[in-house]
Amino acid sequence: MKFQPTASHFIDGEYVEDTAGTPIDVIYPATGEVIARLHSATPQIIEQALTSAKRAQNAWTAMTGTERGRVLRRAADIMRERNRELSILETHDTGKPLQETLVADATSGADALEYFGGLAGSLTGEHIPLGGGDFVYTIREALGVCVGIGAWNYPTQIACWKGAPALACGNAMVFKPSETTPLSALKVAEILIEAGAPKGIYNVVQGYGDVGAALVTDPRVAKVSLTGSVPTGRKVYAAAAEGMKHVTMELGGKSPMIVFDDADIENAVSGAILGNFYSSGQVCSNGTRVFVQKGIKEAFLARLTERLANVKIGDPMDEAVNFGPMVSEAQMNIVLGYIEKGKAEGARLVHGGARLDRAGFYLQPTVFADVTDDMTIAREEIFGPVMSVLDFETEDEVMARANATEFGLAAGVFTNDLTRAHRVVAGFEAGTCYINTYNLAPVEAPFGGSKMSGVGRENSKLAINHFSEMKTVYVSMNDVEAPY
Ligand code: NAD
Repeated sequence: MKFQPTASHFIDGEYVEDTAGTPIDVIYPATGEVIARLHSATPQIIEQALTSAKRAQNAWTAMTGTERGRVLRRAADIMRERNRELSILETHDTGKPLQETLVADATSGADALEYFGGLAGSLTGEHIPLGGGDFVYTIREALGVCVGIGAWNYPTQIACWKGAPALACGNAMVFKPSETTPLSALKVAEILIEAGAPKGIYNVVQGYGDVGAALVTDPRVAKVSLTGSVPTGRKVYAAAAEGMKHVTMELGGKSPMIVFDDADIENAVSGAILGNFYSSGQVCSNGTRVFVQKGIKEAFLARLTERLANVKIGDPMDEAVNFGPMVSEAQMNIVLGYIEKGKAEGARLVHGGARLDRAGFYLQPTVFADVTDDMTIAREEIFGPVMSVLDFETEDEVMARANATEFGLAAGVFTNDLTRAHRVVAGFEAGTCYINTYNLAPVEAPFGGSKMSGVGRENSKLAINHFSEMKTVYVSMNDVEAPY
């Protein structure tokens, strides 16, 4: 098997195996071939990972932020040097085209390691002067052992977006990748060790939901950061609440993208393509409800279908290919089910709509027009290459409809009217908004959702607050006054 790692788990600086765990077959989505076989963590493996993380964390916290940051920045450099090798692995794990993984996965992970590595030396508390010479100072402290649980669409990125701020703050992390894409997080763990991280500070254990659940409920765990669906988020949040643990929840979405009739149509079409078909549509923040003002609807659809004729679907290892397979057969079938619902509920299929007649889990990029708010494809997260185009007439109307969803991850607007752009963004009920672009997520900017799409923010300086807490120290410079 081409991509078989040394062992399933990476704990205390070493690969560890326990073949008693349920097998996990890693399937290359472009061919259906098994490229590695791993095993889900047994209770012994989970115990080993948590014990090692707990032990490692104290020494890691005791290092200066600058020293911790140096390790993270070295890891970023190693990731960049190995970008091609890591991208090839990511492409095999996920099926995403190499054209994408070369620029969006290990590179994005390296950005997070570099950014949080840079911040690590300046993470401090503050001094608060009070009356009579008394004062308070605050100490920013690590939370302890943090658990990261990943989804399958951006495995390397998720492993780093969670690991980098956690480690910068002096925490240890036990990371459980998605069972669908378990390979690349092992490389992140290896690279951290090579960069000088103490053993045990970033452990990777494989497994299905039950392994995630066991990690979340362990009393040694102080924080859980999940990237996944809303139903999983609900369960994990509830389990974490039981132990009063900190959480970050990066969950699903059904985000609106509004195109006003004064917009640059070419840019709006580009935004809709990026926001629906990049990574074969398997992006949480995708703008899958594309509201197009009536006057330009047909022009928008015409240009969109023209541009879609140029999509290059095929072998993801061919760098000219820009549209790959779905991550798994199961996900492909879920999306095909939604396409059938779209047709049955009366949406007009204007592009795609079928599986490709070739090995692997390939779907065509699919566009439905004349979609109405009540249709299933306009209400539920599909997580595949299915764009719904909806018509609208006025700004007030579209704002109410755009916000009429339980989700609140992202939202975008295309218009050349400056004041309208800002007014619309102010009205969006979403954590991450875009004006005249879509789906960019630089590490410097907070990323995350409102409403059912999540709690907390990843990236940016804000992530620091989600991986540390303040200890308040009141210092008296005066005698203590007591009533008796
Ligand atoms: P999922 O919810 O099925 O699984 C996510 C992870 O949770 C997996 O590692 C899984 O093993 C684990 N898990 C499942 N049940 C668990 C439990 N009871 N306790 C602990 N862990 C458990 O999601 P998925 O299918 O892997 O990913 C797709 C979803 O992720 C979509 O909804 C997508 O929108 C979302 N997503 C969100 C973001 C974001 O940043 N907001 C990014 C990527 C994906």
